[in-house]
Amino acid sequence: MSVENIVSEMAPRAPLRYYAAGLLLILALPWLPVNPFVVYLAQTFAYTAIAVIGLNLLLGLSGQMSLGQAGFYALGAYGSALVALKLDWPVPVAIAFGTMVAIVVGALVGIFALRTRGLYLAMATMVVGFVIEIIAQRWVGVTGGSMGLTAIPQIDLGVSNPVSMGFLYFAGICLLVVQIGADYINDSFVGRRLRAVRESETFAASVGIRVAWWRAVTFAGCAGLAGLGGALFAHQSGYVGSDAFSIRLSISLLIAAVIGGLGTRTGPLLGTLILLGMFELIAGIEDYGLLIHGGILLGVLVAFPKGAAGILAIVRRCLPGRARQPSAGTLSALKDSVSLQGRTQGAQLSILEVSKSYSGVLAVDKVSIEVKAGDVHGLIGPNGAGKSTLINIIAGVYRCDAGTVQLDGQDITALTTPDRARRGLARTFQNLQLIEAVNALQNVQFGFVEAPAVMGDFAQWWRGTRFEERERSEALAIMDFLGIADLAQRFPGELSYGHRKLLELARAIAQRPRIMLLDEPIAGLNAQEAREIGSVVKRLRALGITIIVVEHNMEFVMSTCDAISVLDYGQLIVTGTPELVQKDARVLDAYLGKSEATA
Ligand code: ADP
Ligand code: MG
Repeated sequence: MSVENIVSEMAPRAPLRYYAAGLLLILALPWLPVNPFVVYLAQTFAYTAIAVIGLNLLLGLSGQMSLGQAGFYALGAYGSALVALKLDWPVPVAIAFGTMVAIVVGALVGIFALRTRGLYLAMATMVVGFVIEIIAQRWVGVTGGSMGLTAIPQIDLGVSNPVSMGFLYFAGICLLVVQIGADYINDSFVGRRLRAVRESETFAASVGIRVAWWRAVTFAGCAGLAGLGGALFAHQSGYVGSDAFSIRLSISLLIAAVIGGLGTRTGPLLGTLILLGMFELIAGIEDYGLLIHGGILLGVLVAFPKGAAGILAIVRRCLPGRARQPSAGTLSALKDSVSLQGRTQGAQLSILEVSKSYSGVLAVDKVSIEVKAGDVHGLIGPNGAGKSTLINIIAGVYRCDAGTVQLDGQDITALTTPDRARRGLARTFQNLQLIEAVNALQNVQFGFVEAPAVMGDFAQWWRGTRFEERERSEALAIMDFLGIADLAQRFPGELSYGHRKLLELARAIAQRPRIMLLDEPIAGLNAQEAREIGSVVKRLRALGITIIVVEHNMEFVMSTCDAISVLDYGQLIVTGTPELVQKDARVLDAYLGKSEATA
């Protein structure tokens, strides 16, 4: 198998057969023996699923919880109904308008909600939902209150049973388009970035992802999908009253998203199907509805934590499958296809009089260090000396209280972490940061900081050719450089500690760094693994990359570093060549002496 084959075989691609089947089903419905009730259910399925897909992207991918979807749903419904009723806008245009209203309000809430996470975000969105519901109830002049708006125009495309079939076509096509968009997001760099934001915002920022921007955009987009669902609902029923948009609706949508399987492609569709099925089953016992919903939700989640899509995946795994692992032959071919040489040019870093304290504890005290371009610069000192703090200041995770950091003579003190990453600062973490939801290869792909042009990327995904091909082959080549290419399709959780360390290193190399910050790269490794990392560091140095490395292992530090700076209690004691540092009395006192005494 050739390199091209293996690289393209690993590519996710648009499941066109399913889209064609969906389209056929929508178009064929008039000829199937269906009654008006089934058509009505199909319509309801279409717009509910749209709202659930939005929630799935928000919660399943970016990890943000919203209990206010009913509010955005209401905005779409009222926005669309009002312009269609009062201004006589054509229904499709009105629906687009209603969706826009939800997007705009969603963006505002999203920007505001950026300050909150998890439970607090859920509470904040719940309040937004309540506020919109109350406005809908009280602003009778516009919304009609609980009496509602009636005679909302419906969609008439002139298909046999005009009103309902026309609407079904419209809603069905909307769902298909939304599903395709969501699938692309799932498979592409967008979904990868959202997953990174969900698992670790610190990591995401360190690979150049503008976390706040992505969170706000996801929130707005998800609000827009709820709005689209609501707008379609308004034009299906021809009536909207404020009672329809209570927290029950928000919870129902959430149940559908969770029960279907968060973060999966088919989850929202399955979840919506289950939700509507439950509604039909318990239509007669309305009063206990929520209780029964809750019970079923809990039951399913205990038995199948990954929801209905998880069950489907288990079934699919039992069918004959295709394992896709690169073979040794293709890997050796890869080596020639992508050259790591000459991609990088080390940068020079100056740390000038930098200080940082944490509420009273002076962690770094007026430290100045000059790191030459292309050097491996060791940062050593006892625990608590301030090494990690200094690394975090260089990476932009912490703001320093005083002093400046310069990259090639340019002041970068005020730059954010993503901006520094884009200037060639890559790092690994003392406590490993890998994204567990994607495989090893995709973890390396996080290193490709620049986003591709979305339209071209989408077209490649759609055609199933060349999608992320260059990135994948480069990522594979880097993994091969580190001797872990055969692990490309494994998930981080399945890897040994040593391999995880190497994987993180591979990701950092993919960033085409000009400076790499390595925080304790061999801590916790056995001698063999440590030697491997040592040789990698030497090879990176040979490529010309500047490296700053924090490490306790003296053998490693003395054999790999060109220069060493010693910190103790936040102060720089000495900086110089390994020979000089080794002989320095203060170092022996403060550091080596101590460790020898305790050894
Ligand atoms: P090292 O990496 O050299 O072991 P650190 O930079 O982690 O040292 O820590 C330096 C000092 O700052 C220690 O006294 C530590 O307790 C303190 N410190 C580190 N991180 C924090 C934090 N997030 N909040 C408060 N104190 C911290
Ligand atoms: Mg540390």
